[in-house]
Amino acid sequence: MQISDPVQYLKGVGPQRAKLLARLGITTIGDLLNHYPREYEDRSIPRAIAHIGDGERVTIKGQVIAVDLIKPAMKINILKVAVRDGTGIVYAVFFRVVNPYSRFDVLGTLKKQLVPGTIAYFSGTAENNPGGKQIRVDEYEPLISDTGEKSVPIHFERIVPLYPLCEGITQKWLRTILFHLVITQKIRHPDFLPNDMRRNNSLLTAEEALEYIHFPQSFIVAEQARRRLAFDEFFLLELALAMVRKSKKNTEKQYRYTVLKKFLSPFKERLGFTFTADQKKVINEIFKDMARPIPLRRLLMGDVGSGKTVVAVAAMLLAVENGYQTTLLAPTEILAGQHYLTIKKLLDGLPVRIALVTSQLSSRKAERTRLHASIAAGEIDIVIGTHAVIDRHVSFKNLSLIVIDEQHRFGVLQRAALQMKTNDPDVLLMTATPIPRTLAMTIYGDMDVSVIEHVPPGRMPIETLHLDSDKAYEIVKREIALKHQAYIVYPLVEESDKTELKAAVSEASLLASSVFHGYRVGLIHGQMKLEEKDTAMRKFRSGEYDILIATTVIEVGIDVPNATVMVIEHADRFGLATLHQLRGRVGRGTEKSYCILRGFPVSDNARRRIKAMLTISSGFRLAEEDLSLRGPGEFFGTAQHGIPALKAGNLIHDIDIIQKARSAAESLSGGDPHLWAPSNQPLKIALLSAYSGRLSLLNIG
Ligand code: ADP
Ligand code: MG
Repeated sequence: MQISDPVQYLKGVGPQRAKLLARLGITTIGDLLNHYPREYEDRSIPRAIAHIGDGERVTIKGQVIAVDLIKPAMKINILKVAVRDGTGIVYAVFFRVVNPYSRFDVLGTLKKQLVPGTIAYFSGTAENNPGGKQIRVDEYEPLISDTGEKSVPIHFERIVPLYPLCEGITQKWLRTILFHLVITQKIRHPDFLPNDMRRNNSLLTAEEALEYIHFPQSFIVAEQARRRLAFDEFFLLELALAMVRKSKKNTEKQYRYTVLKKFLSPFKERLGFTFTADQKKVINEIFKDMARPIPLRRLLMGDVGSGKTVVAVAAMLLAVENGYQTTLLAPTEILAGQHYLTIKKLLDGLPVRIALVTSQLSSRKAERTRLHASIAAGEIDIVIGTHAVIDRHVSFKNLSLIVIDEQHRFGVLQRAALQMKTNDPDVLLMTATPIPRTLAMTIYGDMDVSVIEHVPPGRMPIETLHLDSDKAYEIVKREIALKHQAYIVYPLVEESDKTELKAAVSEASLLASSVFHGYRVGLIHGQMKLEEKDTAMRKFRSGEYDILIATTVIEVGIDVPNATVMVIEHADRFGLATLHQLRGRVGRGTEKSYCILRGFPVSDNARRRIKAMLTISSGFRLAEEDLSLRGPGEFFGTAQHGIPALKAGNLIHDIDIIQKARSAAESLSGGDPHLWAPSNQPLKIALLSAYSGRLSLLNIG
């Protein structure tokens, strides 16, 4: 049996169950081995029946003295098993909803198995009933197997693993399969860590780790196993990044920049404000990097409203001053359109040629072809656009700098695709979805990081409130009376979902014709044509609308400083990242702004999100809260960050392991940069299987 074999051929699995396992992401035996427990339950020492407390989760071991099958209602069957140990008697109770279509009589079978005299384990929740003590059983295991021999218990007399499950898969079944694989057959992944590295970092062997993650003898050993497996995950990640870094270091760029100030100075003069200290610092960092012979790879993090756009423009002007082309990519058409307008205005009167490229380009095909031709001929200096720049195979004559705004919305592969367009361009990524710095180092390990910590001076903090509709709309009216503007947002989970959109649009028009009758109300959503979106944005920006009712399309980047109030309907349904981004649309001027959350959180999680929004204003702290609410697996979705999901490692709590893995990866890739040494072959295989196709920039032979 090989770890690459499909699970279907395992004894006890079969095609039906294989389909269910696939839902858990398990298709091969290797996947199954890597399906780690989410927690453990200590069932090593059974509780004396006399000492069972009400409501507790307990495990007992005893002899069956009587079994009774009761059918109190049409649809419910109950099996009551009286169990005795040296200290007392308890009823172990099994409930089953009768399924008329199933030929399987679960309780009947159980009754035959648990004949009086049988010694068995039971675990479940204890209840003190008027009729006596009972345990609602969720797992049991008789000590005598079907064949009459005494068997080694799998589910008791040990610390048992509890796995993530899906419908149709039970703990007991999954645990049994894994027990046979891991303990009976001793199937393992090969250990790819060099011995000395393993010892230097005091790690278990891969063999031990796999056994103890599933069937540990103690919680301490389980944690040691997890640490070893986490180390493996981080080590492969860090090794991949170290190799990317190395391959980048060797490339020399074909273009050079000198700070001429030909465009930079006039740009600074017409800004209408001076750069903040943070902006100056970051621009310096970027210019210094651009001046080096190797390509710039920098991630610029700055909270919403911190002023990243003008920093990007400065970098782009340096490229343009030196006769190169540059492109600024945004994740939505609205944002790209806004950048186009902003930058055009900032550079008005300068001989800099700017064009907008989006997929819904309103122009006819002929016009589009002409635009693409002039970009290819080098007649456009700054191309502002969306994915379309990548998808449409727009080619440049001498593209030297790529800026990606709100980069978390783009996948790693897309970034890579764009870099292919030209020979090692400078790349500046910008994000307002802040990640704790240590994590940034890990995920963007091939990047340098710049941070804008402080927003421009004079901003008033945004007051965030959780209010019902009347009060919320009163504030909106009050602000409009002060000649300010308002957003009312109906966030959509899926901007392309037609029914959800319809619901939002009809709620919106109801609002416009009732509460806000007589006000100038505009509407914008993702499925409108580009021209319509443009018109709506333009009218809001120029003050022709008092209120813009919008879906989440306005989430990122939109900048209308006169808007001072945002109402977020159904705020309970949305994640912290989205809420924080939305809130960032107000508080962009010098007037006091409000963000009003509506909606009634029903889940605990939703309540915590609302509370976090009310109490935390820093994007960095919110991101940390978000991470702890959602868990790193979701927070760092593979699609967004291009890293495989971590199964054992935890990006927040395992910083010490990450650091060790990082330095181990550095030293290994320093000694054997191409992984040519025969002893590193298992490692190379593991690395390729984890990362090939993800980091197409990986360059190992
Ligand atoms: P973000 O970092 O969210 O992309 P923007 O670049 O959109 O932020 O900037 C937010 C607002 O702050 C814009 O209206 C911009 O003109 C303004 N701004 C940027 N830098 C400064 C500054 N140094 N002083 C005053 N206002 C600034
Ligand atoms: Mg922005």
